[in-house]
Amino acid sequence: MSAEDKEDKTETACRICGYDDGDQVFDEYGVPQYVICPCCYSESGIGDDNVSQVREVRGYWVATGAPWHDPSFRPADWDLLEQLANIPPQWR
Ligand SMILES: [Zn+2]
Repeated sequence: MSAEDKEDKTETACRICGYDDGDQVFDEYGVPQYVICPCCYSESGIGDDNVSQVREVRGYWVATGAPWHDPSFRPADWDLLEQLANIPPQWR
């Protein structure tokens, strides 16, 4: 058996908004770590396990002005589109 059998499923970017501070939101087995995003206020593992739901939550968040749950985490030069680009392709 090769290394390909052990695919690393680690995700550090929020599936909803792309916020990524390097902490795992899903571990190497794809198990959610239930991390609350300081940006969009989603929790990994809650309502983000299928792409249509992810898109719906993201659409609502963007439509309401992409508010930060905890603005103290917001970088001074924050760029919404740049952050959205962090979202893993399968969750876009
Ligand atoms: Zn988020």
